Amino acid sequence: MASASDINGDTTIKAGAAADAVPAIAHPTPEDAFGVAANIKYHAQFSPHFSPVKFEPEQAFYATAESVRDTLIQRWNETFLHFHKTDPKQTYYLSMEYLQGRALTNAVGNLGLTDAYASALSKLGYDMENIVEQERDAALGNGGLGRLASCFLDSMATLDLPAWGYGLRYKYGLFMQKITKKGQEEYAEDWLEKFSPWEVVRHDIVHPVRFFGEVQVQADGRRKWVGGEVLHALAYDIPIPGYNTKNTISLRVWDAKATAKDFDLYAFNEGKHDKAASLHSKASQVCSVLYPGDESEEGKLLRLKQQFFLCSASLQDIIARFKERRPKNSTLDWKIFPSKVAVQMNDTHPTLSIPELMRILMDVEGLGWNQAWAITSSTLAYTNHTVLPEALEKWPQSVIAKLLPRHMEIIAEIDKQFQALLHAKRPDLERKLGELRVIDYSNPQKVLVRMAHMCVVSSHSVNGVAELHSNILKEELFADFYSLWPSKFQNKTNGITPRRWLRYCSPELSHIITKWLRTDEWVVNLDLLTGLRQFADDKQLQSEWAAAKHANKVRLADYICEVTGIKIDPSTMFDTQIKRIHEYKRQFLNILSVIYRYITIKKMSPEQKKAVVPRTVMIGGKAFATYAQAKRIVKLVTDVGALVNNDPDVGGLLKVVFIPNYNVTVAEVAIPGSELSQHISTAGMEASGTSNMKFALNGCLIIGTLDGANVEIREEIGEENFFLFGARADEITRLRKEREQGRFVPDPRFQETKEFIKSGILGDYNYEPLLDSLEGNSGFGRGDYFLVGHDFPSYLEAQAEVDKAYKNKATWTKMSILSTAGSGKFSSDRTIQQYANEIWHIQECRVP
Ligand SMILES: *Cc1c(COP(=O)(O)O)cnc(C)c1O
Repeated sequence: MASASDINGDTTIKAGAAADAVPAIAHPTPEDAFGVAANIKYHAQFSPHFSPVKFEPEQAFYATAESVRDTLIQRWNETFLHFHKTDPKQTYYLSMEYLQGRALTNAVGNLGLTDAYASALSKLGYDMENIVEQERDAALGNGGLGRLASCFLDSMATLDLPAWGYGLRYKYGLFMQKITKKGQEEYAEDWLEKFSPWEVVRHDIVHPVRFFGEVQVQADGRRKWVGGEVLHALAYDIPIPGYNTKNTISLRVWDAKATAKDFDLYAFNEGKHDKAASLHSKASQVCSVLYPGDESEEGKLLRLKQQFFLCSASLQDIIARFKERRPKNSTLDWKIFPSKVAVQMNDTHPTLSIPELMRILMDVEGLGWNQAWAITSSTLAYTNHTVLPEALEKWPQSVIAKLLPRHMEIIAEIDKQFQALLHAKRPDLERKLGELRVIDYSNPQKVLVRMAHMCVVSSHSVNGVAELHSNILKEELFADFYSLWPSKFQNKTNGITPRRWLRYCSPELSHIITKWLRTDEWVVNLDLLTGLRQFADDKQLQSEWAAAKHANKVRLADYICEVTGIKIDPSTMFDTQIKRIHEYKRQFLNILSVIYRYITIKKMSPEQKKAVVPRTVMIGGKAFATYAQAKRIVKLVTDVGALVNNDPDVGGLLKVVFIPNYNVTVAEVAIPGSELSQHISTAGMEASGTSNMKFALNGCLIIGTLDGANVEIREEIGEENFFLFGARADEITRLRKEREQGRFVPDPRFQETKEFIKSGILGDYNYEPLLDSLEGNSGFGRGDYFLVGHDFPSYLEAQAEVDKAYKNKATWTKMSILSTAGSGKFSSDRTIQQYANEIWHIQECRVP
């Protein structure tokens, strides 16, 4: 992807006379190419990080990033001061995950300095594209939920909203995936191995966070949590620049530290080295990895520690800021707290914010329960991201009581008050008390705290992330709560930032859009894309559009060749499914249909083969390390690829590629380069999906079920531009019942495909357990819970429609244009504006 021409070798900054003419100057906010080059050179020489005689691309990246950071810090400071003086109501977004990806292109783009940086780098003998590729992804997240949080930060900054993100600074974020003969292997990815040029450590911002210990009752009856171990949360700020505004907000991530006081020098000198530093080693575990295994009791404790660490440090920080911004010498009026602070919990991971805010208000600040409760519940809001039972967090009461004894008391009181409320207001619901309570006592041996119920009971707002999903929350998952508090429930359909997901990842398409719309306002007002509709039939636009898509395909093909060695042909249809590997997302359905396609081609005469639309099927995604079934699916894709790609019978008609190590950077190449993308989850199971939005925005057509945001995407871009198949969400329960009753009759093509795998032609890997998941009714096998068998025939029919449409290039290109044109709704700017108006009640606060 990059020209590596004049960058290798042991060079000082030396690309000829031009580079020599650039002095090294510490000008923090240059806006012209020469000033930028001088500042990059300054960083290379005076904060070198590497041996000063070398100036290779990696060093050039760090120097460039530090130069960008100068500007970001200056703007961040201005923004902070402006918020401080204006004292608006401010939102804090709490998330265990952020999937930031690379920052350089986005930062210089949002600052409006892309051209200045590109020409500065060329003065220094470098090519911007190559420098950009030196950066490692910050992968502090796992999938859609984390990427959503990152898109939201970009929109908050761009919309000039007083809003910040809080998260954890994991040492190892999401694992790196390698594909070997055995399938997926996981390795720790050390994104901080060198250092991150984007974070600013705040040595003055440290909050103590306690674990374990006990609760004491004081003379006045107030309770106090004491003892146990105390770690310190140290703040790191990652500045987030808005697009076309000075506003630069913060993603504040916490690292866990022990102090010198915790170091037992006597023990150390006696040779007890591990004991001497035991708290230090505990501290380093807290932020070591994202989602450590939680099968064991130790694992559960660590997860809860992480969650509490985020909640406690962030709330202490928020309260400190609230106090700083109150007039000096006046008594603190806690009643106004909710008019100054909004806290959004991204899924249930930050649920411990509820008892922690209660504890601080009561035990530290001395408020009574009722006042603390009123403040807590009008400050906190909850976003639900899943209805999958296994993904709804439930923690053993015993583990919480051990780690957070005071919080368990508060949770028990919340549970008790909820019972009282039902008794007083809704006696009709009392018979369901056991199911609805915050604490689940159904198994006395294993009492569990239901985090989602605690969120619903304690928050002033509960939202789903697409219309269909929000309706399922109201009608099924939280139906009784909905009947109790109908006005709490809202929908906020997810979105994606158009900056990263179109403007920067597909500059070619962006230029065409800007040219035809005669404005680049669409970058901040994505609804303007509808203006493309009037040109959808225009031959000139179609030819420019197709050329840009082709260039993106070539870029993707080069990337695939670089990482897998497989050569794919950009004149074939590029069909992509990239997302976490999960049974409900049904990569299995995809690969089964690919096998069926292969079987069909094998049976064809040479004449028949001429009518086949050549396809390259790409599947990518990580399987959670302990999710065996998902790992089998990965292996199946690679085995099918090995068979199909080497079979001369299918020639160029079918290729199957597994794209390794899916992350944001991979998505930025794969999405613009795709023509068809698959969003084929069992209806009702994908809360929203956001990669469907990224693909649609990039003029990629969708084959999909009526699930999550697919429903709304199809509405926006027109049903004639969407390849729909499969059961609807409201049919799923009935279909599973029918299956249990043995009334499901599988399609012969489905049987043939399964037989093919069983035949052993794919090698000696044991696919029995995977195939078993498709068999049986309720007793034997798993009864095909995800309804792969049911949806298989309609999926094949939809695929045939895809082939038919692809044969007519003009039709396809028109559909592609209409897909982009109809994607305006899915800007995260729209989503965030709705959160701001309808949940947070905050106003813009723009730095002058
Ligand atoms: C957008 C995105 C996701 C979410 O994809 P879905 O298909 O909506 O699940 C996950 N991972 C990365 C890296 C993304 O960019």
